[in-house]
Amino acid sequence: MQPVEDFTKVESIFVRERNCLMVRAQFTPIYTGYYLHLMEHQLRYANELDAALKDLMAVLTLHLTARPWAETIAWTANLRAPRVNYFVTGSSTGENITGRLFTEDVREPDRNLLYSQTLVAGHEPRTTTVHVESNDPIDWIEHYYQQSEQRPAKCFRLDDENYVLVAAQPDYDEEWFAALDAESVAKISEQEQTKLLETRKFQFNCGCSLERILPSLSSWKGKLDELFQGEDVIRVNCPRCGARYEVSREMLEDA
Ligand SMILES: [Zn+2]
Repeated sequence: MQPVEDFTKVESIFVRERNCLMVRAQFTPIYTGYYLHLMEHQLRYANELDAALKDLMAVLTLHLTARPWAETIAWTANLRAPRVNYFVTGSSTGENITGRLFTEDVREPDRNLLYSQTLVAGHEPRTTTVHVESNDPIDWIEHYYQQSEQRPAKCFRLDDENYVLVAAQPDYDEEWFAALDAESVAKISEQEQTKLLETRKFQFNCGCSLERILPSLSSWKGKLDELFQGEDVIRVNCPRCGARYEVSREMLEDA
């Protein structure tokens, strides 16, 4: 069992009278797990890309909490400049969020795009694509709500790794919502009538392992010389979190 401090607790709060849903959390536990993961797998990302990936993990975690429990959501952001792909995915029932950057062999898109894929067991995956203007994940989620959820949302990055998402519900107070800024959103609990609806918890955790990575190489069976090119081991990265695994010929021959 993991101690509770390893998890970021995410609160869903209904703002009465205003008819808005506020989802908020403090992300230090997730970020700590993320940095331990980068150290363990000797991954290094440039500072600005690292900051945006953390923002993206935070906003997806808030969005997952605003959505039904059963959904697993994956977002890929494909940017023109810097040319980079961000990937984040998570699940409320799995209590996890993970992600990575791709900076090599990234296709240059004609504009910045955010792809969202939602998986629910027993249903077809649902994919939506949103055009995004900036390089800021806080803007992306606001665009995403406007275009895909068809209701406005505002997202704020506050001090001390706190993030808040406020999503409008039917018959919301438009004037109040339009005036919301970082200062007023930090005081909602004191100034508004609120009701805590539920709390979910998340940690940085991909769930990958060498055993799960090996089947992805099964198509190389019979072509191992081509794959290994004279080396004894090759390194394989998890497509979801970037974790590095060393794979030997024997592992594939036995698999
Ligand atoms: Zn992984």
